[in-house]
Amino acid sequence: MSPPVLGTILNVNDTEASRYLATLSLRRAGYRVLEAATGTEALSCVAEARPDCIVLDIKLPDMSGYEVCERLKMNPATANIAIIHTSATFITAEKKVRGLKAGADVYLTQPFDPEELIATVNSVLRVRFLEQDARRRAEQLQEADRRKDEFLAMLAHELRNPLAAVTTATALAQRLPSSEPRLAKMLNVIQRQSHHLSRMVDDLLDVSRITRGKVELRRARVDLRTIMGQLMTVVSPMAAQRGVTLDAPALDAPLWLDGDAHRLEQVFTNLLDNATKYTEAGGHASLSVAVEAKDARRQVVVRIRDSGIGIAPEMLVRIFEPFTQVDNSLDRSRGGLGIGLMLVQSLVELHGGTVTAVSAGLGLGSEFTVRLPLPLEPSLPAEGLSPSPQSFAGAGRSRRILLVEDNADARLTLHELMESWGHQVDVAFDGIDGVTKALQLGVELAVVDIGLPGLDGYGVAERLRAQMGPNIRLVALTGYGTLDARQRAFQSGFDVHLTKPVNPDELARTLEGL
Ligand code: ADP
Repeated sequence: MSPPVLGTILNVNDTEASRYLATLSLRRAGYRVLEAATGTEALSCVAEARPDCIVLDIKLPDMSGYEVCERLKMNPATANIAIIHTSATFITAEKKVRGLKAGADVYLTQPFDPEELIATVNSVLRVRFLEQDARRRAEQLQEADRRKDEFLAMLAHELRNPLAAVTTATALAQRLPSSEPRLAKMLNVIQRQSHHLSRMVDDLLDVSRITRGKVELRRARVDLRTIMGQLMTVVSPMAAQRGVTLDAPALDAPLWLDGDAHRLEQVFTNLLDNATKYTEAGGHASLSVAVEAKDARRQVVVRIRDSGIGIAPEMLVRIFEPFTQVDNSLDRSRGGLGIGLMLVQSLVELHGGTVTAVSAGLGLGSEFTVRLPLPLEPSLPAEGLSPSPQSFAGAGRSRRILLVEDNADARLTLHELMESWGHQVDVAFDGIDGVTKALQLGVELAVVDIGLPGLDGYGVAERLRAQMGPNIRLVALTGYGTLDARQRAFQSGFDVHLTKPVNPDELARTLEGL
């Protein structure tokens, strides 16, 4: 016989002789045994001592064993205690079923052999301990997963501040006159790479938002032709740089759907980026768009094919899971975080569509197909993508602006940038200083960081809005691009919410437009 699993047993029986015998056998087997003669006594003993298992007679003087069992199962704190019903008189199948339905683990008919009792207790406890262990591990995993998500969100957020300073400083440096041609080349490298870094940081943030169900689409009536045209300006040079021919004929007419233009652009950029990234130089990639009918509904079908390294069948089923990467080679020659396809799938599904991948095998290329439903009647107001970036010449009128920013590099670069557009800019280092200066100087526009020491950006906006009413325009600058952060900014009185690293063109347009 295997050694008993030790634990505390509550033995509930109003017949003294039976109770005595069961207790004796259990103690001999090495268990700690507590006793109760009524249902009420049993419940209070459970509340005090939390036994691992209860040997519970059905017929008790004050209430039935079924009722005791039901009460214990209703309370989450006692629901997991193993229960063995015992009875001599209630032995019909129906009664046994009732006991098991009430939550008992086993039913023993009296008189039972001491060995049978011990073996039954051992068996239910073994299962219970395994269950508890599995539950504890699952909880630990969930907790670790939650912390990982929090860490990713925090990491992405922290990376945004230094990136913002690099992006702005580079944009500024590119505008300075220089006779050294290599300098312009180097600055272009910095600009491209920091753009690339920003994209990865944004993807990381998106992943943690998606896993917490916090991504919402900003839907409008959008034209797929415009979206494709726009993203080709980014993807085509990338393909050319990688030596991959990209065949993506422009649509000859607008194709309207209800969706989030930026998210759709993100989907197709990711897929095209992969198609050219996982194809050797000399290979080719293509994009085609067709409208097909499915179940009396029209849908747009976008196919992205490549002649690249292909995907093995065993990977194909996991390809949309986060952090899946086939290229685990040490040099990680193709880079990436392994989250692009998870984002693609989540965003396509938020649009009510599907994405699938096929490949004939390694070395035989891949094909990704995105299907998006087309609206019966375009219902939402039209929204184009933001106009393609023009050089931020800052042609608008000069404004008196207060910049409230505690990060020295961000303050310096944004200050210079806004001055270079002809604005008159004052700076404040923290929230209180910001409110004081804005009131003293009577500025018409304030650009305010949210994470400030002391009084945060939301507090600054609330005070300025309360004191200056509509006489000031407020722009929030923050590393938090979540919907919550956006809503909170508007509730505090901000007119505009920009996420770091802020694109200089977007800031220039915002300042002009306000
Ligand atoms: P990343 O490209 O950042 O690693 P993705 O989530 O975009 O992450 O892709 C996950 C994995 O799927 C990639 O690492 C790659 O192994 C594989 N994959 C994606 N697209 C293709 C493709 N077009 N051809 C071959 N493999 C691909």
